Amino acid sequence: MSQAAQNTILVTGGAGYIGSHTCKALAAAGYKPVSYDNLIYGHPWAARWGPLEVGDLADRNRLNAVFERFRPAAVMHFAAYAYVGESMNDPGKYYRNNVVGTLSLLEAMRDHDVGQIVFSSTCATYGVPEQELIAEDHPQRPINPYGASKLMVERMLQDFGKAHGLRAIVLRYFNAAGADPDGEIGEAHDPETHLIPLVLDAAAGRRPAVTIFGDDYATTDGTCIRDYIHVTDLAQAHVLGLRALELGAASAAYNLGNGQGFSVRDVVAYAERVTGRPVPTRTGARRPGDPLRLVGSAARIQEELGWRPVHSDLETIIETAWRWSNRGDNSFG
Ligand code: UDP
Repeated sequence: MSQAAQNTILVTGGAGYIGSHTCKALAAAGYKPVSYDNLIYGHPWAARWGPLEVGDLADRNRLNAVFERFRPAAVMHFAAYAYVGESMNDPGKYYRNNVVGTLSLLEAMRDHDVGQIVFSSTCATYGVPEQELIAEDHPQRPINPYGASKLMVERMLQDFGKAHGLRAIVLRYFNAAGADPDGEIGEAHDPETHLIPLVLDAAAGRRPAVTIFGDDYATTDGTCIRDYIHVTDLAQAHVLGLRALELGAASAAYNLGNGQGFSVRDVVAYAERVTGRPVPTRTGARRPGDPLRLVGSAARIQEELGWRPVHSDLETIIETAWRWSNRGDNSFG
């Protein structure tokens, strides 16, 4: 087998929201990201820092061809379905794509001697929090199929590590939000289900109101509390994880959160302040699968990999997302 191209990184889901921001960070750090994306949720315009190979994780022949052609030194694995609500109604879709699809990827990596991966996991693997600030050793008991599918992959990574020497940096994201501070890329989900873009659409008058999913939780204002982290800070953590693997780091899991919780009503209030516009809300039913509070400690990645969030205060998150949501150019999706 010929030499791997040391700076080529295969990025599954590279045309998606977090994947594309990470491709930008990889390119800035001197890597060549090759995106592998089936474009079900990804956008060709978002894959602008390297080649885009269109394909599905389940398509082993296609994956093999891409591994043969580009000979990546490592993989960053973003490609997944990530709607908690949908996962409750259609769990099979999540287990097939997120678990079976990843198995296909891991076997292709094994067959092509690619032994390093940075994996997008989630705080949804923890389930109902038992601590104010969730640390990595918190029990993992997911309460929705999305979280369960990601936890299964974490387990597969451990087993492939024992059997084949695969080394994995697992990043458990809290709530990714915001947009590229340069305005080149941002969040463009269809359908959009995430709170901050929906709130900003309501502020801009693109939708009549935001529905608050439950205001009878045992929190200060009755709405769910989340830990919002800027997508560019997340992207930087992936580059640090990759560098650690290159230097021989053992497998590890890290939280990527901000350590600060904001309720749904807090987000609405911040958005009104940042945009200077009212955000109409109405209260609806709780969304099944939603824990009342998810706030993480990222002390481990700060200590071990030197990660520092620089864009993750809620004003900056909302301000970058607001600029992106008002971009004039409709070609961006
Ligand atoms: N949320 C809401 N209304 C919406 C969308 C989301 O009240 O239209 C709430 C949701 O219940 C959760 C928080 O906002 O408590 C963040 O949800 P999001 O879907 O953005 O991210 P998730 O926590 O599911 O990853």
